[in-house]
Amino acid sequence: MAKSVNENVEALVILPEDLTEYDPEEYCLQCDVCEIEYTVSDYAILKEHKKLVYFLFEKEFCICHSCLFEEVASAAGKDKKVRVKVLDGDKMYYLTFDGKKYNWDTPDEPEQN
Ligand SMILES: [Zn+2]
Repeated sequence: MAKSVNENVEALVILPEDLTEYDPEEYCLQCDVCEIEYTVSDYAILKEHKKLVYFLFEKEFCICHSCLFEEVASAAGKDKKVRVKVLDGDKMYYLTFDGKKYNWDTPDEPEQN
């Protein structure tokens, strides 16, 4: 089965430590797609345990990891492998999604900036 890789998708990880001007118990982040919502304080914990990551996608949308990959996968079409360039603080890596599962614990091809 032919696979195509879209290398042009770029997503910026929203870092709880960049939101220090807000009250972490009051200020909420919300996914623009599924509307899942957490306070900054809860998000910091969820992100640390790799349960949830919010991304800034196309410099405009706040989107959770699950919706991001759904968007990317549906744009690429079924059975296609997609790759997202992830900018996480001062780190950058690629995550791949093969249409069934994705993994951010073992990002492939880590790169140095
Ligand atoms: Zn979502």
